[in-house]
Amino acid sequence: MLKGKIVKGIGGFYYIYTKKGIYECKARGIFRKENIKPIVGDNVEISIIDEKNKKGIIDIIEKRKSMLIRPLVSNVEQVVIVFSSVSPNINLDLLDKFIVLVEKQNLDILICINKIDLDNKKNYEKVKSIYENIGYKVIFLSAKMNFGIDILKKELENKISVFAGPSGVGKSSIINSLCPKFNLKTGEISLKIERGKHTTRHAELMNINENSYIVDSPGFTSLFLSNIEAEELQYYFKEFEPFLNTCKYNTCVHISEPNCSIKEQLGKMINLDRYKRYINIYNELKNDRRR
Ligand code: GDP
Ligand code: ZN
Repeated sequence: MLKGKIVKGIGGFYYIYTKKGIYECKARGIFRKENIKPIVGDNVEISIIDEKNKKGIIDIIEKRKSMLIRPLVSNVEQVVIVFSSVSPNINLDLLDKFIVLVEKQNLDILICINKIDLDNKKNYEKVKSIYENIGYKVIFLSAKMNFGIDILKKELENKISVFAGPSGVGKSSIINSLCPKFNLKTGEISLKIERGKHTTRHAELMNINENSYIVDSPGFTSLFLSNIEAEELQYYFKEFEPFLNTCKYNTCVHISEPNCSIKEQLGKMINLDRYKRYINIYNELKNDRRR
């Protein structure tokens, strides 16, 4: 038996990346009977049925460590959240919403600030210190100048990562710098939309090197904070965590309650602007539910 990873699935055929190359496989009938569908990202074991034509059959699907629904991929460990320092300017409201979404999924986060070649005022330094203080990794990139790409490559090693971020910040350019063979379209927004329309949006894994994979569709570009209750939002602001149990009321949402430990930490362990964005998102979630 040969171990591998499903990198693509089309019409009942699965493409398995292994040490011996890529095999086209069907899944054993038993999976259908048990209502288990292999998905991209699955670690599997296959039997080779035709070595010459690289065909095989999936015998075993290893237990999934995680499961993203959109895009549908298993075993994703990390989300790379990309913003540009300028053009467009980094939008911290949006960054915090991306972070909330990823924290809800319980995946690791890597924040990338791209296009630093355009930012003479070095605004990205401030952003880095805010988020590093919370405990997130932040790296600076210039896809154009090929700056920081090696550091990013290291951060992608031995895992599956999804890229997220608004359009125009340079995600496709970064992926091309990581691996020129992908040759993704950049900059031509209308063309990219065309591409999205005509291809079925099955996720596909692209491998950067032996053990690093990225998901081809720029994961979440639009943001729906669905399935998040206003009351749970506090758990996705990581810097709140050490203080959550010490508020006077155990139902405290840290907005208008007295003796709130979170509010006591403002300007100390909790950044005031992040807290303000917490309140904004909280109100948004409350209003959404009323509609
Ligand atoms: P995406 O929508 O996030 O995939 O962004 P693209 O990769 O298509 O990039 C959007 C535009 O920004 C394109 O015109 C790129 O050439 C440009 N761009 C991307 N990265 C950089 C960078 O590091 N510096 C500069 N100056 N421009 C960049
Ligand atoms: Zn509180």
